[in-house]
Formats: sequence, structure tokens, C-alpha cells
Amino acid sequence: MQIQKFTLGMGDRFAHQGRAQLAALVEARTAGLDVYPIWNKSFREHNIIKTHPDDVRSEADDAVAALKWQGDYYVDADHIDLKTVDSFLAGSDFYTLDVAEFVGSEPQVEDVDAFVAANRSFLGSLKIPGIEVPFTVTEDTLRKSAGNFLLAIREAGKIYRHIEAAKGVDNFVTEVSVDETDLPQTPIDLLLLLSMIAAEGIPAQTIAPKFTGRFNKGVDYVGDLVQFEKEFDQDLHVIAFAIGEFGLPATLKLSVHSGSDKFSIYPIINKLIARHQAGLHVKTAGTTWLEEIIGLAEAGGEGLAIAREVYAEARGRFDELTGPYANVIDIAAAELPSIETVNSWDSAHYVNALRHIPNSPEYNRHFRQLIHVGFKIAAEMGVRYTDALKANEAIIARNVTENLWQRHIAPIFGARST
Ligand SMILES: [Zn+2]
Repeated sequence: MQIQKFTLGMGDRFAHQGRAQLAALVEARTAGLDVYPIWNKSFREHNIIKTHPDDVRSEADDAVAALKWQGDYYVDADHIDLKTVDSFLAGSDFYTLDVAEFVGSEPQVEDVDAFVAANRSFLGSLKIPGIEVPFTVTEDTLRKSAGNFLLAIREAGKIYRHIEAAKGVDNFVTEVSVDETDLPQTPIDLLLLLSMIAAEGIPAQTIAPKFTGRFNKGVDYVGDLVQFEKEFDQDLHVIAFAIGEFGLPATLKLSVHSGSDKFSIYPIINKLIARHQAGLHVKTAGTTWLEEIIGLAEAGGEGLAIAREVYAEARGRFDELTGPYANVIDIAAAELPSIETVNSWDSAHYVNALRHIPNSPEYNRHFRQLIHVGFKIAAEMGVRYTDALKANEAIIARNVTENLWQRHIAPIFGARST
């Protein structure tokens, strides 16, 4: 299975927005932009919402049939490992092997020595085609990299072979993700990771490194844009080089996780993928759940009541809800409105506080991040929540589609206006 050049990962916590999400890709296609859908959901999310991986397959198939989508689409077993992969074997055809847990585990000395020997040709001044200044690679560079990543990539190999045994070679797409680590990876880290991936025999078609800067859930990128641009550009050169050097699939491309709502880096990514003629995968997830709450708030009545309740409950259970996401959110408690304040907001005020229009005066990114992690509250509401989704389907769908098409697909993949 060869992945398409441009793909958009879409998460749908409550599994009601598959058609509205696909409609955004139909809009893109109408505008001449070929971007293919990949529905993604992690084991963790399935667990909280009480859904099964096969549900995502049904949702994807249903959306594709309803909208008469022509061409490829995928179902991503997102962030799986050996313990969690089995329930995804039937329904998925895209696997994100998450080995961040093993990053930093110390490998055997002989294995490190073998890695150094195999990558000796990179020692000294390493010139990667397209990157002006050569990198300096020492034996220490190779040893450190092996120390950090070798066991993680070994583990990825085990997961890959487990899936291959069940599904057959070439019947699925493989992504390797090391994005949920503490430290960002440099272009040289990426090169050496790809060397290990190739040596392990993993035909990776997407790789998700941890980029420089903060990729907080549901809000804009925070970091040094100049540095991001430099590294993203170098990463693209490294991937092109690694494909030839290591014999990795020609379709290999970068995958940007927590990629929704990173408005300030989209122009950079857009410019660079055009310049490199590179492919790209961008994963989004919770941004669609936020559009559900926006749609409910906009609808008023019971919808607005639910939206207010989600906030009130989330505010009351702040530590419990934000704890697991401490590394990927930045909420200043002092900037959060009180429960009474939010309960006094009308539809327009609630929508404006939540919808991601950064320069809108009522937009509050702290409020938005807390709602982002508050999907557990809606999950606990059970059918009351999903009934509200059904009752307000049209208004929610409009928000979901518009958000993905106008604020994501067009700026990321679209033709540049300048
Ligand atoms: Zn990720």
C-alpha cells in the first residue's frame, strides 16, 4: 500500500462527524486540491469514550459511501504498541507505531558498536544535499543516538512484524512516531532514526519526529518560527537523502502530530512542501470535538446548556482532566472565566470565546484548552450528549467542515496566494 502525497489525519471522538469531516476533503478536491483522509483514534481515546477500533472503520466506510468519495482513505491505529495493537488488526490499514516509551532505554554495548560500525560513513563533515552547512558527526554523536533510540526502533520492529504477520506485507501503511518525547529531535537525529528504521526492516512511509517548540492541544504553535522553519526545511532534505541512502519507501514523508490549529506555522509548512515538492501528513483530532461544542453552543437551548455544563464540570475537575495532558497544554488558571460568567454567556459569546479566531476579542485560548481536555465530561453524559449531536447535526457539521477546510486544509496544502 502506497500512501498518497498529501493526507489529513482526522480524529472524531464521538464518531458522529465522519461525513462532515470528509466533506472538507470534498471541498478541497472541488478546489483542485488532492488531500486524502485518514481517520485516526488512539487506544487511550477508545478507552475513555468506550468505543472499539472497528467503529472507526464503520464510520469511515459509511462516510465514504455517503459522499461517494473516490480514491484512497485509511483508518489509523494511532499510537499503538505491542500491548494495544491487537484490537486494531481487523479495522485499520495505517499503523502509528509509538515507541516513545522506549526512547532513552539503554541498549547492549555490542548493538551500539554495530550501529556505529554501520554508520561510519557519516563520521566527520556530513554534507546532506540541499543543506548548505555540513553537519559534524562524531563517534559520540552516533553513540548518543544509538543510546537514545536503538531500543525504541527495535521495539517498533517487533510491532511492525506482529502487524505484518496478521495482515500480510504491503497491506498497510506504517508510521513510526517518536513525537511524545521530552526533547525535540534534530535533523541529524532524524537521519540516524531513519538509518535504524531501515536496518530494522520497517518500510516506514511516515515519520513523526518531535519538532522544536510547543504543540499544545487545540491552540496555536508556541516557539521560535525561524528555528522551526530551518529545521523543517532540513528535515525535508534529510528525508529525501535517507530514501536513497537507506532504500526506504519513496513515499516516505513527515507526519505532524497535534497538527490542528497551528496557524502560525502553516505558511512555513505550505511554502516548504511546495518548494521541496514533498508529501506531508498532518494529524488533527480534538479540533473536531471543539467544533461539536461550538455547534451545540451556537444552537442554543439544550445544546448551549450542554456546552455550559461541560465547562462547569471541567472547571471543577481541573486537575483530574488536565493532569494527563500536562506536557501538551498551557492553561493559566487566572485567565479562565468563572463558571457563573460562562453560564451567563449567550450563544454568540460562548462561540466567540471558543472558536479559534486568534484575533477575535472574545477568543480565550485557556478556555479553549480546558474544553479540549473536557471531552471526558461529554463521554460521561452518554446518550444525552450523542442525542444532542444528532438533534443539531446540520449546525455542527457546518462548523466541522468549515474548520477543517478553511482553517486547516487550505492554508496547509493549498496553492499559495502570493
Ligand atoms: Zn502523536
